[in-house]
Amino acid sequence: MAEEFYCMKCRKKVNVENFEKKILKTKTGERAQLVGICPVCGGKVFKFTKA
Ligand SMILES: [Zn+2]
Repeated sequence: MAEEFYCMKCRKKVNVENFEKKILKTKTGERAQLVGICPVCGGKVFKFTKA
């Protein structure tokens, strides 16, 4: 299922079908981040999500 990301390069929202979840460890705990590739410019897009 596609997820909506905000692309910094395009400066707009894009729908990404291939993305992966990464777990970041911070001082306050773990945060989950979705990382994908913008279908428009090929740049990296990411956003935080629930773990
Ligand atoms: Zn883009």
